Amino acid sequence: MTKHLFLAGAMAFAMTASPALAQDKWTVRPEWVRAHESFLASDALQGRGSATRDEAIAAAYVASQFEGYGLKPAPGMPGYLQPAKIIRYAAGGPATLTVGGKATAAPTVLVGSVDPVSGTSAVFDGEDPAKVPHVDVLFVTGGKGSPMALVRAATAAGVKLVIVRESEMTQNMVKGLGGKPRLPAGLEGKAPPSYAALATLPSADFDKAIAQAGAPVSFVLPVVKEEAITTNAIGWLPGSDPKAGVILVSAHLDHLGVRPDGTIMHGANDDASGTTAVLELARAMAAAKQTRRGLLFVAYGSEEIGGYGSSYFGDHPPVPLDQIVANIEIEMIGAQDPKLPAGTMMMTGFERSTLGETLKAHGALVTSDPYPDQHFFERSDNYSLAVRGVVAHTISGWAVTPNYHTAQDTLENLDIAFMTRAIQSLVAPLQSLANSAAKPEWKPGGRPEKK
Ligand SMILES: [Zn+2]
Repeated sequence: MTKHLFLAGAMAFAMTASPALAQDKWTVRPEWVRAHESFLASDALQGRGSATRDEAIAAAYVASQFEGYGLKPAPGMPGYLQPAKIIRYAAGGPATLTVGGKATAAPTVLVGSVDPVSGTSAVFDGEDPAKVPHVDVLFVTGGKGSPMALVRAATAAGVKLVIVRESEMTQNMVKGLGGKPRLPAGLEGKAPPSYAALATLPSADFDKAIAQAGAPVSFVLPVVKEEAITTNAIGWLPGSDPKAGVILVSAHLDHLGVRPDGTIMHGANDDASGTTAVLELARAMAAAKQTRRGLLFVAYGSEEIGGYGSSYFGDHPPVPLDQIVANIEIEMIGAQDPKLPAGTMMMTGFERSTLGETLKAHGALVTSDPYPDQHFFERSDNYSLAVRGVVAHTISGWAVTPNYHTAQDTLENLDIAFMTRAIQSLVAPLQSLANSAAKPEWKPGGRPEKK
């Protein structure tokens, strides 16, 4: 009995001391980092297109790694995967346009709308987007740069359709889209984001049409509805104190898939690197002594087409959102920004809450975002949680790498040594935060309003 007790005591000592020791000495190995990337950014995964089978395979990989590390399915979930239905649309035939009741030549549609458009029209010189007239259809005669900026300004002014003159630029844009217009997509049961449609007319037809401007215009694009499934992979490490809250560590596993010309967009940095970080942080935490707070590790689907995986997660969280004390999203840690001090990463919206300071106090190499006008805080999955009140930020090694959203975002162009150090630098701060009573809070005015 005594002997057993002694052994039990020794065992208990070993159970608490040895993993903690292991944690202090936990070393993220570059070959582990590379191995995740070799799979996620491989040709076999075809660029992990949002809400595709390739994305589902990436999610299955993350789930099976979670299982192997000893993570559990999140509370109430039957497994590690959280599928969500996405409704998207595709053009079902050529568009038609009439001006003053008379059909024009067939317009080429770059951005389509699900509903037909009809109503008033006007001509706009395109010079000052702040002066977009409030009409249904806008013929734009000039302006600099991409018509997409005009579409954004027009959408804000309530315009439903923008028509521009066909040019080399618009022809290249059509080529880039594979000849297919971009159409809205959204989670089932939620209104898809609505924006103005964009179409072009050949020069002579454009001139004929603007001669009639002011007359009622109607535009119809036949559309087909498609259903697709996007998949989140979720792993869970329960905390020892159920009242202490939960920390969410996340990244997105999807990327841009295959371009219409057959080019695979590997997305090794965006965001296979963040997914790799989520996996390695999960492995480190699963090997360590149980923390006070629970830890949720999530790789989202469909970030690239509108943050749908994270938005679905926000609507169907396995633990109530008010129990999530902080969300650390990890995006693009595959290279180090030369603008940042060596070895550090930026945290988007650093000044909005106390999370950055808290992580820094626990040794994290994070600093504020040097590109506030790029609005990165709003451009990643952290935002889906932030608008729901969770203190949620994204950590990034270099958010504006020259390979961003290009075919050059490949395994060969990753800095595996930096990635490994970056992940390593988050292990101890994450563990401290998971054991601490410190609760990150929004600073006054820091919490974003839902747009
Ligand atoms: Zn991206």
